[in-house]
Amino acid sequence: PSVAEVVASRLRDIPDFPKPGVLFKDFTPLLADGEAFATVVRDVATRHTGSVDVVVGIEARGFILAAAVAFDLGIGMVPVRKSGKLPGLTLSRSYALEYGTAEIEVHADSFRAGERVLVIDDVLATGGTAAAACELVESAGAVVAGVDVVLELGFLEGRDKLGERPVHAILTV
Ligand code: IMP
Repeated sequence: PSVAEVVASRLRDIPDFPKPGVLFKDFTPLLADGEAFATVVRDVATRHTGSVDVVVGIEARGFILAAAVAFDLGIGMVPVRKSGKLPGLTLSRSYALEYGTAEIEVHADSFRAGERVLVIDDVLATGGTAAAACELVESAGAVVAGVDVVLELGFLEGRDKLGERPVHAILTV
């Protein structure tokens, strides 16, 4: 099977989570299957071998993938976290949610100037989170070499928020 087929077969739909009317895509079955997890991690890593310097993972599910990809590539991993979680001096960015706003942060000294960064999350939905993460990376002086997600909810057009940055989804629904 293709890596997209592997992902499709290991995603689970949970209706009405985290609130009524939302169909949540749950990728814990993918993580629980060692062979499928390794297939996904290697797919992401292989596409970026030699072309990125550091991997950013977006809290919380992005951490799981980003850490594994960084390990596979033999490079470091930087967490982008919800506000108030990182202990050092941070840069922060707020962005609009369906109702209200959210804020994410990164340590201000996470990158060297011009460093090439791969930004990883599990799901690209409206794109607000990934766009804010990219803006953080760029405001810290680094370059977004790519945004990789396992699953893209295409009908939400999150890609449009990411402009010219290269976006790759293993599976788009
Ligand atoms: P966005 O900002 O609307 O693109 O939402 C993306 C963020 O919400 C990511 O950090 C995802 O982990 C999370 N997210 C949104 N929808 C889902 C889903 O169906 N399953 C898992 N995570 C989701």
